[in-house]
Amino acid sequence: MLCPQCEQPAPGGSLCSVCGAQIPDRETFEGQGTHYLLVLAAISLLLVAASLIWAHYTVGVGAWLRSMLQEPWVALYGLSILIPLGLGVYYWWILREEEVSISDEAIQRRSHWGDEHMAWDDVVAYRQRQILLRQTRVGRVAWVSRVMRNHKLVADMTTLRYELIGTAEGGTPPPVFALEPGTLDDMPWLLRLIEERVGPPTPL
Ligand SMILES: [Zn+2]
Repeated sequence: MLCPQCEQPAPGGSLCSVCGAQIPDRETFEGQGTHYLLVLAAISLLLVAASLIWAHYTVGVGAWLRSMLQEPWVALYGLSILIPLGLGVYYWWILREEEVSISDEAIQRRSHWGDEHMAWDDVVAYRQRQILLRQTRVGRVAWVSRVMRNHKLVADMTTLRYELIGTAEGGTPPPVFALEPGTLDDMPWLLRLIEERVGPPTPL
């Protein structure tokens, strides 16, 4: 593990030899479902607010709301501005269980796509490769994880997929533990902890 204060490598559960801080036994990284929900709900809210302001200065809010009941196109528009909110709820739902945890022995994941566990002793390679956001598990919506990050409206984000390759058993392909952009909070620290265990990734 690494000291959370000074980043000195040290066994989990010990005290840091440099700064004396407690080294955690295990570090856990949550999924970004709540972030997706907040950003996408905010987009819907902005669209609702913009529509109400537009209606206020043109046909009147009351008339506009009544027209939703009478004009299918207006009703369709009213529903369409709720699409981002619906997407936010969907991604919150599938990422709500996402959690990666790291200890001195292993990395493991609880996930909508299935739980995984890989002991560091079984890791034979650690690779990184460039991917497109649409190739990630969550797809293009991974872009949302850039919004309102690092005190920026849209932050830079490397689109790298990190792969821990395990030991193949009985003629089956080796297990791959993949970490993709856009699913987890605090990826940089997670990657530092992995590197402390298995060394830097090999670029492909
Ligand atoms: Zn320290």
